[in-house]
Amino acid sequence: MTKNAAYILEIINHSDSHLTAEQIHQQLKEENKSVAQATVYNNLSSLYQQGMIRKISVEGHPDRYDKMRRHDHLVCRNCGKLSDILLEDLTEQIQKQVSIPMISYDLKVNYICDECRQKMQNT
Ligand SMILES: [Zn+2]
Ligand SMILES: [Zn+2]
Repeated sequence: MTKNAAYILEIINHSDSHLTAEQIHQQLKEENKSVAQATVYNNLSSLYQQGMIRKISVEGHPDRYDKMRRHDHLVCRNCGKLSDILLEDLTEQIQKQVSIPMISYDLKVNYICDECRQKMQNT
């Protein structure tokens, strides 16, 4: 793994928020590691290809990156905010129903976050 890929992986593994490529680039800058934006994108896609990070895509929002540790996500349908939730591991149940070996699954639960619900009530 290149030095830059290692930096990026470390940022993702130590963050509890779901960072976009831009935020990761920003954080590298703050740590005085000057990495070009294109390099950040390239490293993110190769880390993703290697199965070392997760990518969460929500329509209308930039992709966000996350650690591999198994967990699921709540997604606000209004503002796209992501929160972690830990649900029962469904790997075995899903595997039983598909005949070829599965790699992973992504479960997103849609909801309306507190903030958005309040805003909606006030208007
Ligand atoms: Zn929201
Ligand atoms: Zn997460």
